[in-house]
Amino acid sequence: MAMKQFKAESKRLLDLMINSIYTHREIFLRELISNASDAIDKLYYRTLSDGDTGLNRDDFCINIVPDKENRTLTISDNGCGMTKEELENNLGTIAKSGSLNFKQEIEQKEDIEIIGQFGVGFYSAFMVSEKVTVLSKAFGSEEAFKWESTGTEGYTIEPCEKEDRGTTIILKLKPNTEDNNYDEFLETYTLRNLVKKYSDYIRYPIKMDVEKTRLKEGTKDEYETYTENETLNSMVPIWRKNKNEIKEEEYNEFYKSKFMDYTDPIKVIHSSTEGTATYNALLFIPARAPMNFYTKDYEKGLQLFSNGVLIMDKCADLLPDYFSFVRGLVDSQDLSLNISREMLQHDRQLKIIAGRLEKKIKSELENMLANEREKYEKFFKNFGLQLKYGVYQDFGLHKEVLQDLLLFYSSSEKKLVTLKEYVSRMKEGQKYIYYACGETVERVDRLPQTEAVKDKGYEILYLTDGVDEFSIRMLMKYDDKEFKSVSADDLGLETEEEKQAAAKQVEENKDMLNFMKDALDGKVKQVILSQKLKTHPVCLSTDGAISIEMEKVLNAIPS
Ligand code: ADP
Ligand code: MG
Repeated sequence: MAMKQFKAESKRLLDLMINSIYTHREIFLRELISNASDAIDKLYYRTLSDGDTGLNRDDFCINIVPDKENRTLTISDNGCGMTKEELENNLGTIAKSGSLNFKQEIEQKEDIEIIGQFGVGFYSAFMVSEKVTVLSKAFGSEEAFKWESTGTEGYTIEPCEKEDRGTTIILKLKPNTEDNNYDEFLETYTLRNLVKKYSDYIRYPIKMDVEKTRLKEGTKDEYETYTENETLNSMVPIWRKNKNEIKEEEYNEFYKSKFMDYTDPIKVIHSSTEGTATYNALLFIPARAPMNFYTKDYEKGLQLFSNGVLIMDKCADLLPDYFSFVRGLVDSQDLSLNISREMLQHDRQLKIIAGRLEKKIKSELENMLANEREKYEKFFKNFGLQLKYGVYQDFGLHKEVLQDLLLFYSSSEKKLVTLKEYVSRMKEGQKYIYYACGETVERVDRLPQTEAVKDKGYEILYLTDGVDEFSIRMLMKYDDKEFKSVSADDLGLETEEEKQAAAKQVEENKDMLNFMKDALDGKVKQVILSQKLKTHPVCLSTDGAISIEMEKVLNAIPS
């Protein structure tokens, strides 16, 4: 039987798993159970959409069998199983979701200690095993296959005997060493705790034979041991539990394992509603932007459950683009299980839920801004750009929703401020909300154009992101106060007389200004006398709608 090689990227990941001297290796169990649960989900979903398949929901389960004698731990499920091709494709190559994310992160960080917090996938089995054997029989198939590997050398696949459909994974535990005791993963106590800790919410029973003692019948002090097939998990999904009964750590663990992050979320939003739409939602705002967040690869969306059954992994319709950073899930009993993607888009119930969630997310962000400023600024550093795009998107349709969530650096406060705060500080007689654009705060600070405005004691918002000026122009006004670029011709700083005096000066110096313009020969459109300057002799301005900064942004867009 030929030994097949892992794909190069898988090999590297495997290497990490095999050689890791890593304290969180216990998460292998979480990963294998979650795969088993996914496999049952897949099959269960099929039974719902295909009608009668002769399967009964109550029969689905996951079994754990520790064997101390042979030092093996077996995890089996009666889910969809895998065909020969699927074994090859799913286990021979790095799997799409979990493992791949993890790998990217590792390449960036080279920090082995972060492994545990991740959804690392099937290969995590190699953290505790010297050999992994997978027996699988796909639903509806007559044949079963055995996949086996001892690590990086490769794997084999051959036909095997297996009576029932589903997958059985046999881990041959690594030998114990002085520092590492792998036998603990054969102990009832450890296994029960691990299931409680990581997999309690799994919706199918996770069963294990457990030895117990009881009083022998008819006696007062004689005990006997017996075996009970115990269900280790409560099967209540965390989002259906009462908020008061959930510890912060539980939310965090759930988030990290489910959404493949290694940092705790910055905000957890757990809400349940009844009435026009009945649903439970559990939403998270990540503490950092995923690596691909600002790329085309990022896919927004929430997991959608219908009465506890996953019907869609990333339902995009549940989140507006400007809140695309939110991760989480919605479980509603109002949605039909068989609903198709196309139908979902027009589903009234779904629209109502989406509307509610948007309001909820917004109000949670506003709360954070009001009560946990530092946290909010951290959030804004990660996702503020997305909010600013949101203002600009759809011709400003959402600006009302978003304007109070924006932060800009302030010339006078020397920190990030909201538009509301700016307006509350506006001076008597100040007509506009002033802003200045540049690459960095330091650069904007040195802009000659800011001098006259600052001289008046007016605050200036520094726009240092490419999108900032686009958003500000889309807003046009805040609280009825117009925005004004410090580069604009008329800053509204002068009285009528001052203006006339200035115009007279221009008239008087016309020859000199024309001479300068000619000397600059086509490089400038016009040379004028400016009232904006204090200590600087000259500055550059643009006329018309596009500022120098906007021009830069537009020029940077590949055509
Ligand atoms: P992920 O679960 O994130 O996709 P994994 O590395 O955990 O990545 O698993 C890789 C793939 O192997 C899964 O996507 C699935 O197709 C398949 N798989 C793993 N375990 C099972 C199982 N018990 N039953 C059926 N398929 C499985
Ligand atoms: Mg997995």
